[in-house]
Amino acid sequence: MEGSNERDFLARLKKFEGQPAATAGVGKDLVNEAMIRHWCEAMGDTHPAYTGPAATAPPTMLQAWTMGGLSGHGDGTGRTSGYDELFELLDGTGFTSVVATDCEQEYVRDLRPGDRVTYDAVIETVSERKTTKLGTGHFVTTRMDVRANDELAGTHRFRILKYAPAQGGSARATTRPAQGERAAAGPEPAAARARRPRPVVNRDNAGFWAGVAEHRLLVQRCGDCAELRFPWLPGCHACGSARWDAVEASGRGTVYSYVVMHHPPFPAFDPPYAVGLIELAEGVRIVSNVVGAAPDEVRIGMPVRLEFLRVDDELELPVFRAEAA
Ligand code: ZN
Repeated sequence: MEGSNERDFLARLKKFEGQPAATAGVGKDLVNEAMIRHWCEAMGDTHPAYTGPAATAPPTMLQAWTMGGLSGHGDGTGRTSGYDELFELLDGTGFTSVVATDCEQEYVRDLRPGDRVTYDAVIETVSERKTTKLGTGHFVTTRMDVRANDELAGTHRFRILKYAPAQGGSARATTRPAQGERAAAGPEPAAARARRPRPVVNRDNAGFWAGVAEHRLLVQRCGDCAELRFPWLPGCHACGSARWDAVEASGRGTVYSYVVMHHPPFPAFDPPYAVGLIELAEGVRIVSNVVGAAPDEVRIGMPVRLEFLRVDDELELPVFRAEAA
């Protein structure tokens, strides 16, 4: 697209800034102990503030109270057409893919069982055109104000990228400039068809990927209570400390759970293949592929050992090879 067209398009996108994405939304359920308990069990959060007669909801549940679940919101959603129109405009210009990039939350007031949740959302910003590893597109940031009994309880700021996938595959834009001989060789070999998705490396997990580059599986250890954690996170789930160092896992583990993927097919993967939740000898768990055994031979409790799989010239991944029991 030429520069002037791009500017015109951006001007059209910018008109959506400030438009409501949802108005007068109403949570399907009052804040309630059962949902809090299920959340805490799923998160493994045993903090005492979330149980008992004076329980509050975990602040990070903020968005959960606004979600419609599988059955949707019916007519109580308050959703406006603005968001749909913005998506149609982006879709119609070729930015047909979407990926959630991040969210930020701010907590103003505790949510307690019995509180009635209402919310409004506004399209806060639409970015100028950006090119990322996934492709080129526009970031759309939506801010939701969540209220409890009409008092502001917190804000949930949610950012997505609407983008045109890079040519020829999910992440082809990350390919380095073709080498001379490769460019001259004509069609790429079938093996180069679609590439495995790239990991999102950020300041919170960069140390993990630096370890992978050295063929070390690094687990975070809290600098205050020594609790191990994985995947990498900025803070300790046991004590809240932001201090940490990293320890190298021995590479020994067992299959804690697994699925065998048959469907849906993804271009970069050849089904069937086993995806395991591996419990490391150190006690933390990691999702990875189980290799070295037919997928239908993978079993819970199977001993596995870490190895590193070179996927392509840019990507190596930790995987786990089945060992004789
Ligand atoms: Zn800790």
